[in-house]
Amino acid sequence: MHILVLNAGSSSIKFELFINKTPGDFKSITSGLADRLYLAESKIKIKIGERKVEFVKEMLDHSTALENVIRILVEQEKVIENTEQIKVVGHRIVHGGEKYASSVVIDDEVIAEIENCVQFAPLHNPANLKGIYASKKAFSSAIQVGVFDTAFHQTLPPHAYIYGIPYSYYKKYGVRRYGFHGTSHDFVSKAYAEMIGKPVSELNVITCHLGNGASVAAIKNGKSIDTSMGFTPLEGLMMGTRSGDLDPALVLWLVEKNNNDIDAVNRILNKESGFLGVTEETNDCKPIEDNYDKAEKCKLAMDIFSYRVKKYIGSYMAALGRVDCIIFTGGIGENSEMIREMSTDNMESFGVKLDTEKNIGRFKKSAIISTPDSNIQIAVIPTNEQLSIAQECAKLT
Ligand code: ADP
Repeated sequence: MHILVLNAGSSSIKFELFINKTPGDFKSITSGLADRLYLAESKIKIKIGERKVEFVKEMLDHSTALENVIRILVEQEKVIENTEQIKVVGHRIVHGGEKYASSVVIDDEVIAEIENCVQFAPLHNPANLKGIYASKKAFSSAIQVGVFDTAFHQTLPPHAYIYGIPYSYYKKYGVRRYGFHGTSHDFVSKAYAEMIGKPVSELNVITCHLGNGASVAAIKNGKSIDTSMGFTPLEGLMMGTRSGDLDPALVLWLVEKNNNDIDAVNRILNKESGFLGVTEETNDCKPIEDNYDKAEKCKLAMDIFSYRVKKYIGSYMAALGRVDCIIFTGGIGENSEMIREMSTDNMESFGVKLDTEKNIGRFKKSAIISTPDSNIQIAVIPTNEQLSIAQECAKLT
């Protein structure tokens, strides 16, 4: 069965096509990105095995981009024979609100609910909907599946998801912690269980998804019980361009300082803060790590980032009571030995001992990087959100 995974952003569509033969056997046959949509020089980049194909043309909406991707895959590259071959399309949807605790087949009711959640994810959900509409048009006979970033965290208990503000805001408007990156936290916790040969339902893990966006989750017996992102993906760790946790009164102060310009403050906290804000140069962790000893601001940014990861790890150790493993994933988690070391050093008295030799390098495959006598294991598990979405599609259909 051919399963197409789509991740539609405001001006882009990421895609990956899988063939699923038997349960558990997923082969990726092609992947790519259509971006700069709505601009004169929209671009499609497709990877087919080792080969790369590029196509530049004005594409003024998601539908046109998808039509062009299909034309390249069917007519030009002959990766598939026709659109009917694709039986299921899996969509990454950022916000599913409180309604969806797992993936669903998309019907009119689901579309209405995704629209209802636009208020919580004004940048992401409208783009995700564009992807769904384009896909329904292009693959009219396929089953469309929605996989929500928020779904995995629907198991949080009320004491973890209710904020200490008047309860009526929750009842009336749904103001609460939702959490994000659920597909990744779920995927790596299951991959760890598989790696050590134990059921995920018997394991307690702390998963650190560290990329441009970053979040930590506490997972008890396979279920998320707390996570650092909240009502929006702004809460929690400091990130590439996002501030993460700060004093709520500081937001009010910023609003006042910016002449009540809410959009300006929104931009500061979401786009001009984090690594970018502290270094005043870049949101990219790699050059910051490379300049740790050379530039004071790079050292400061790395120190802040890893200190916050460590604080979340510590607090989730307390929340979980017993922890089997601390898992690192995402672009930074998989590639930055410095961040992994700084986030877990000096925790021997809590039973956390990193093996500094095993920690060296970038990880394309899962590995344990703690010492054999560490009470709590430390692991690097590469995430694969597209594969996880394809697996969800296969499970549902
Ligand atoms: P996104 O949230 O956009 O999916 P990724 O998971 O791809 O982000 O992570 C991107 C981050 O990973 C960037 O900050 C990048 O600098 C960082 N990164 C990638 N490779 C390395 C490396 N070798 N060392 C340190 N950081 C790295």
